[in-house]
Amino acid sequence: MDKVILELTRITQQVGLVDSPAEQMRLIVDSICEAIHVDVCSLYRANADGDMVLLASHGLDSDGKVLIPAGRGLVGLVATSRHPLNLAEAASHEEYLYLPQTREERYSSFCGVPLVQHGEVLGVLVVQRVEPSKLEPEAKAFLMTLAAQLAFIVANIPALEQCALLSDRQSKGIRGAPGIAIGSAYLLGGSELQTVSDRRCDNIELEVHHWHHLLEITREDIRLERCALGEDLAGSVAGIFDAYDMLLADQPLIDQVEQEIRGGHWLPWALRVSIQYFAELFRAMDDPYLRARHEDILHLGNKLYEVWRGRHLTGKIRQLPDGPLVLVGRQVSVSDIAAIPQGQLAGIVCLEGSTLSHVAVVANALGAPAVMGVGTLPGLQDGDLLVVDGNVGQVFTHPGSVLLQEFRQLIEQQDLLRHQLDSLRDEPAITLDGTRVTLLTNTGLLADISPGLKSGAEGVGLYRTEIPFMIRDSFPTEDEQVQVYRAVLSAYQGKPVYMRTLDIGGDKQLPYFPVRGEENPALGWRGIRFTLDNIQLLMSQVRAMVRAAEGIDNLRILVPMVSSTYEIDRFRQLLDDACTQLLKEGCPALRPQVGVMLEVPAAISQLRFWCRKIDFISIGSNDLSQYLLALDRNNPQVGNRYDHVHPAVLHEINRVVNIARECNVPVSLCGEMASDPAAVVLLVAMGIRSLSMSAAVLPRIKWLVRSISLPEARDVLQRALECDDVGAIRSLVNEMLDANELTALVH
Ligand code: PEP
Ligand code: MG
Repeated sequence: MDKVILELTRITQQVGLVDSPAEQMRLIVDSICEAIHVDVCSLYRANADGDMVLLASHGLDSDGKVLIPAGRGLVGLVATSRHPLNLAEAASHEEYLYLPQTREERYSSFCGVPLVQHGEVLGVLVVQRVEPSKLEPEAKAFLMTLAAQLAFIVANIPALEQCALLSDRQSKGIRGAPGIAIGSAYLLGGSELQTVSDRRCDNIELEVHHWHHLLEITREDIRLERCALGEDLAGSVAGIFDAYDMLLADQPLIDQVEQEIRGGHWLPWALRVSIQYFAELFRAMDDPYLRARHEDILHLGNKLYEVWRGRHLTGKIRQLPDGPLVLVGRQVSVSDIAAIPQGQLAGIVCLEGSTLSHVAVVANALGAPAVMGVGTLPGLQDGDLLVVDGNVGQVFTHPGSVLLQEFRQLIEQQDLLRHQLDSLRDEPAITLDGTRVTLLTNTGLLADISPGLKSGAEGVGLYRTEIPFMIRDSFPTEDEQVQVYRAVLSAYQGKPVYMRTLDIGGDKQLPYFPVRGEENPALGWRGIRFTLDNIQLLMSQVRAMVRAAEGIDNLRILVPMVSSTYEIDRFRQLLDDACTQLLKEGCPALRPQVGVMLEVPAAISQLRFWCRKIDFISIGSNDLSQYLLALDRNNPQVGNRYDHVHPAVLHEINRVVNIARECNVPVSLCGEMASDPAAVVLLVAMGIRSLSMSAAVLPRIKWLVRSISLPEARDVLQRALECDDVGAIRSLVNEMLDANELTALVH
């Protein structure tokens, strides 16, 4: 038994060390053959139609594409029965299906086990031997145990090379920016710092001098790129360029490179080692936003290397082909985007990266469809035609004429929809029967400000202040905070801005103030609990907010994660103290309105008591759903069970809305529910009249609100509140959306 566990651990560890999905799968099948002494091991993966596609095999001929139709053959039997099948003579089984291209007639025995994840059969693992004997019980147990772990690995390879097998030319990734683009591939990646090798440096002082000179010319280069983007866009992505500038002035990075040079290494190697070191620091962080920042450091490394090689803007630029271009790179930087004339940039494909990558922010700002985390695009050459579907996160290489025709039609429909949505920009969100809904935007980066304004947002419903705290290496001073907050408040002059006090802890950690050692961070020291215990931080933040609002007076303060009256009382006292202090200091401080974020279920039953003390309620449906359903919103293992239209969530939100109505306190909602058309129908029916969401979805939600009537929505809500199943609730609302020809909004 110990041997089995050791072998299992060895295989899964080795697989974890390999980067390429193709190599991972090869390693799996080879290791299994060696471990249990079989002649063949094959890994099949189900495609969207349930057919089993051979991904890798040790022993079978699999050069051509091997596909077993859904439910057919022994492999199909294992998948449909969700049960292992162990046979001495496969060919004599009635379900046996002979596939001549594999030449499997050489093998007699067959043992197949299903790969299951979240209750779904993802694929089948098969071993075979020449000799006609069943697999021994111990080997079968080994295979089943390994299959359980493999299912996880196979499902989690981010952008599977298997896509190339599952479909001819379709690769799955993650949505970066919505829309569809068709264009020629423009491949990046000539100057990869990671490919540099070490060399001895003979003149250390000269090399150090080169390093400082490199920093200077790179700064200038980035300034030129900022100009190349044009004022409008450069303003909306200023935060990204600021981040590059900040990194270029980062003393620890500058010192580390110098130290490496002084250790006898030439500049490119010193740069490679130092960039890698800092990138890894970020990559290891728990917070997804900060983790995504490691890409900025890698981009900057490549940028420095490119400039070092003399390919900066003042030098030689690669000749651009004509026509619409799709930028394709392992990572795409703002600099890469800046190098393409705006009229020519059709779309962006990043082999790595997430929705939180800066390139996704820029792509959204530019309106360029983008797909992230594609992994690989086998065989793709510069100039090849590509279709980028940013709506669902997929890329088609070498599309055929039928596919192209389909996508061209979709682009036409999309342009029409965009045109219609744009025309609503200055129209109110008002239902067919005259109910007015206020649509606000969620932001946290200065880069998000102008998309919010352009989308027609009537204010900021949630300004996440932790983001300016997260992208630094120490707490920002009160004056620094005043600057950032004032930029947001003045951009939205005359419109309300709901600023949330620092909500760190849980999934949002500060690199310079990590909260460690908590077994249950989501239930731990976060939100108002953390800031009341670090009251000096809260005081300077509140002072900064009030100072920033001077003369603009559109500030509202939101308090996150409130679960007790004590927290509200303490916060109100602190706000009074802050205003008194500021008045004494000669700052004409106006006390802003204060509200709570309703995120903790315990808050609901206390709401009546709090209504006398607060000016408004904002429902944080992300956390409220997570705590009501006891489902970690960031855990992919349970992600498919997390749904904010769950009956329990709907009933509790309905309760909150009723209490708020009785107590005459305004209620809004700022979680992801506000971006989900089905949820919006139900929320408006409940009586929520203010919703806050990302700028990208706001026009669609406005269209939705303008296309429904309150009695119709109330009828659906009434029936939804009688349902005990999420699927049934979604079907009810989707039926209504279909009937109103709003299906397009759901995608
Ligand atoms: C929420 O919990 O719904 C919310 C908006 O806050 P965050 O997602 O920042 O926790
Ligand atoms: Mg929250």
